[in-house]
Amino acid sequence: MTDYDGNYIQDKFIEYCKLNTRSDDSNNAIPTTQGQVTLLKIIAQEIKKLGLTDVSYSDLDAYTVAKLPANSNKSATPIGFVAHVDTADFNAENITPQVHKAYNGQDIDLGHGLILSSDEFPSLNKHIGETLITASGDTLLGADDKAGIAGLLGMLKYLVDNPEVEHGDIWVAFGPDEEIGKGAARFDVSRFPVEFAYTLDNGDIGDIAYETFNAADAKIDFQGTVVHPGEAYGLMVNAAVMASEFISALPSDEVPEKSKDFDGYFMVVSNNGNVDHAQVELIIRDFDTETFLAKKNLVNKIVADLNQKYGKDHVKLEMHDQYRSPGDLIKAHPYVVNLVLHAYHNLNIEPKVIPFRGGTDGDFISEKGIPTPNLFNGGANFHGPYEYVTTESMMKLSQTLVEIVKTHLKMNNNRDETELKRKY
Ligand SMILES: [Zn+2]
Repeated sequence: MTDYDGNYIQDKFIEYCKLNTRSDDSNNAIPTTQGQVTLLKIIAQEIKKLGLTDVSYSDLDAYTVAKLPANSNKSATPIGFVAHVDTADFNAENITPQVHKAYNGQDIDLGHGLILSSDEFPSLNKHIGETLITASGDTLLGADDKAGIAGLLGMLKYLVDNPEVEHGDIWVAFGPDEEIGKGAARFDVSRFPVEFAYTLDNGDIGDIAYETFNAADAKIDFQGTVVHPGEAYGLMVNAAVMASEFISALPSDEVPEKSKDFDGYFMVVSNNGNVDHAQVELIIRDFDTETFLAKKNLVNKIVADLNQKYGKDHVKLEMHDQYRSPGDLIKAHPYVVNLVLHAYHNLNIEPKVIPFRGGTDGDFISEKGIPTPNLFNGGANFHGPYEYVTTESMMKLSQTLVEIVKTHLKMNNNRDETELKRKY
């Protein structure tokens, strides 16, 4: 029996971090940047070398997928794991990861005048004695989500090195453009024939998130009636005033700056206008499907009320759903969550069921019919220069994934799916 290969996981992580895979929302190519194609093909080579089958990269959705075939007489439905190759909208040129062996809790000089300090970031204290990996000042690191990729490769390597560990079919998918919400929307899941899957994106060891926001955006156009102010009595309709009336009619407490955990909100993204014309852009977020609908209905009602007051068609509304919370689908398949809680329990990992206050690949993949909660990649301070992860956290991810596939093989024919649990 060989152990989790920390050197392998760390080497792959650092190799992939050095590649600039920043996504670009202004580009409509698939994927949006060429650096992502480079990494997706490198990963395809790597997993082929590990011995996976059915390895393919498709230009149509820019996903690399592959299978580690079952090695057991017992049967288990196919299970999937997903990580993304792109990094957030922050400098990713010449990323130079720094390895701090046996981190002792002291401040780390990242260069460029930046200090990574446990006073400012107390989560660092959980990693004393571990091998800490940071960027070097003027770039992000890319642990989001290259720590997820490295942990996933660590699981595959462990299972290949230890063929006596039995498992069913395991599919892996590496995709682009998560940070801009485009990648998984295009994922052709017929290439990923699994019953359920997990994304390994952000989060602390022990997290599991299956409820994210339902999301919509709205654009409201206000058309005024311009009349010389001296002759305006009873005639002028001021578009800028209508826009401010619209905003005042929104609930003033349901805004991001007053929301946390499972609270939803309205956010005015922009508000521009003059007497003739004004436009308000709005986003709507809510975890709960019913209150999400109520929020959208309120927007419709405010618009209808303004049109009633000022005359028809002064106010035009365009509202679109952006993504839906996978919560409802996953609640209908509690095993997908309970399996993870079992695995955490077996490894003495304290589970934390958390809301995910943002869109994820799992939202899109769940919408395509594959229940896909998010677990964790073990890093922290994502999307900026203070990002870090430890080699030990990535090894813990590998170990957790192995435990999930082992537990799935054991439980598949005797599933615990009566109700969704929060812990075991
Ligand atoms: Zn991510």
